[in-house]
Amino acid sequence: PRWLEGANPSVLATVGVGDLVLLDPLSEESLLSNLRERFLHKEIYTYIGNVVISVNPYRQLPIYSAEMVEQYCNGNFYAMKPHIYAIAEDAYSSLRDRNRDQCILITGESGAGKTEASKLVMSYVAAVCSKGADVTKVKEQLLQSNPVLEAFGNAKTIRNNNSSRFGKYMDVEFDFKGEPLGGLISNYLLEKSRVVWHVKNERNFHIFYQLLAGASDPLLKRLKLQRDCRHHGYLGDENPRLPGMDDLLDAMRIIGFSEAEVMQLLEVTAVVLKLGDLQLSGQFQASGMDACVLRDICELIGLQESILEQALCSRTVEAKQEKVVTALSVAQGYFGRDALAKNIYSRLFDWLVTRINESIQVTAGERRKVMGVLDIYGFEIFQDNSFEQFIINYCNEKLQQIFILMTLKEEQEEYFREGIKWTPVTFFDNSIICDLIESGKGGILVLLDEECLRPGTVSAATFLAKLDQAFGSHEHYESRKSQSDRHITDTSLPSTCFRVHHYAGKVTYNATGFIEKNTDRLYRGLAQAMWQAKHTLLRSLFPDGDPKKASLKMPPTAGFQFKASINTLMKNLYSKNPNYIRCIKPNENQAPGQFTDELVRSQVRYLGLLENVRVRRAGYAYRQPYQPCLERYRLLSTHTWPRWTGTARDGVQALLSDLDIPPEELAYGHTKVFIRTPQTLFNLEERRRRR
Ligand code: ATP
Ligand code: MG
Repeated sequence: PRWLEGANPSVLATVGVGDLVLLDPLSEESLLSNLRERFLHKEIYTYIGNVVISVNPYRQLPIYSAEMVEQYCNGNFYAMKPHIYAIAEDAYSSLRDRNRDQCILITGESGAGKTEASKLVMSYVAAVCSKGADVTKVKEQLLQSNPVLEAFGNAKTIRNNNSSRFGKYMDVEFDFKGEPLGGLISNYLLEKSRVVWHVKNERNFHIFYQLLAGASDPLLKRLKLQRDCRHHGYLGDENPRLPGMDDLLDAMRIIGFSEAEVMQLLEVTAVVLKLGDLQLSGQFQASGMDACVLRDICELIGLQESILEQALCSRTVEAKQEKVVTALSVAQGYFGRDALAKNIYSRLFDWLVTRINESIQVTAGERRKVMGVLDIYGFEIFQDNSFEQFIINYCNEKLQQIFILMTLKEEQEEYFREGIKWTPVTFFDNSIICDLIESGKGGILVLLDEECLRPGTVSAATFLAKLDQAFGSHEHYESRKSQSDRHITDTSLPSTCFRVHHYAGKVTYNATGFIEKNTDRLYRGLAQAMWQAKHTLLRSLFPDGDPKKASLKMPPTAGFQFKASINTLMKNLYSKNPNYIRCIKPNENQAPGQFTDELVRSQVRYLGLLENVRVRRAGYAYRQPYQPCLERYRLLSTHTWPRWTGTARDGVQALLSDLDIPPEELAYGHTKVFIRTPQTLFNLEERRRRR
């Protein structure tokens, strides 16, 4: 990275050290107090080599102005503090000038500032590339995809008022001049359970509240909705201070949605809300269903009421050419209703992403370069961890793996380029945990799928027993059974749970619900009912409802789909030059100026920052090209001061040998000098200062 190429005084002479590879001594404690000190001085960015750590300031800092963009864009890193713009500039210029595809990986826990960071990167790139009219349109479309996806995919949670409830990866494609042509968005695992249920003090997805608060009276009437959220079963109290509906509609128009599409989108959104208002009573088979709501829904989607009613209160099972219709209990009825609402919403979200992609996707076969930006949920350890946490942590396990691999690979390649001997580094290899989860030959996900497909009675208990049998002696797996086999008594592990030792720590997962969430069942009758609706958008969301296409084969499970998409993502990332932004949440109160040590410490741990610094300075902590090094230190030796006429490399060698630096501290590469320990660099700086 360019900010390290040249002795960058801002990295050295700032609050603490601006680059953690220069920490001395290096320990969790020193790393933490360095971050704390900087944070309390409003220095929220710190490097580890080419990784940027960002600690959420929870206040507007005056560091994102157009002048700032200008300064980082001019590559004037020598005088500049660590900044997210530096990584954005480095990635963008190396894409533009050196033709290397880039990816920017942003990780951190909920509320740490990932989404804000991704927007800062995007807005930086938008600001520095050219300003032609056609480029402006593309840029606008790319930027406006954010508010649209946030409306449908974000919600207020206890941790974050604007929490992304889906993972997002966006490829921005550029032409050979470095001007954006378009993009492609992939989304991962929307938390669809939120549609029908959220914990107290949290909210449903923003769009519902935006719609109720911002729609005109005629629009609300047309959508058959009440303005007051409390009238809708899936909502609850207001969601205060959200972007207005008008901004959202504008954003959709800029992206290229037609008026008809917007209306259809809102109608389907309204149907989801209305499903939550549909009360099912004791005798609901005998049409005890809330007739008004049912009628509203059916009018919105153009469907005969009896069809939806039938689908909601009974189930048809086909066995050997025989159709058996069974009535559902009220509980089953609600289950079906909620499953339908979740399914409509998540399919609608997928449609939204596909639709945005249609607008922004690049069609021309022009030679392109790509910058990918990944904004995805960080590691989660809660009191209760379920299938969702399991999937999220699996994803983070994979990201950690690729992170270590790529950092090492990059280091190794640099040493090789420079002709310096590489000393192998030992590091914790988490492939064993990745395998435990995803191995095609009987990893946890495969066993879960087997259990989901197995005929007969399956339950959390049978699933757990299966895991115990396979992994009873696996060093990263634990359960009551495996503990008792090892003569461990541990009452903190409930009998319905299993525990995985992740790289970031031990997480106890409750096996209850894994099977249901993985199967993600929707009664076939409901899909078939939706497919019969006249509403073109809604109908298109349920191709599986076409009886001609209905096969007896189970659709792929949630775990299976996620694994496939994560592996595609990993391949994609691995082909690019990585840039990392590691976000840290400084306190639980979303408050400025507060730094809670224990909270940050746990994040430092599971972001693997210490490991990162160790790998980064495995051989040599610091390196810089000969020319700037000579410029900076030549005044320290009479060999090079006041004049040096040879090559920069010879000059640096002459200069450093004159300074009595132990030879094992230094290595001379083809273009750079490598310095083993930070003290040597500090020592040089100190001498320079005394001059
Ligand atoms: P989640 O995983 O829940 O989506 P996140 O990591 O994406 O969380 P953000 O939504 O980016 O978190 O940030 C949470 C809030 O923190 C923002 O709404 C904003 O108020 C504040 N914030 C984050 N980064 C910055 C920043 N650089 N400057 C000022 N405020 C910030
Ligand atoms: Mg987010």
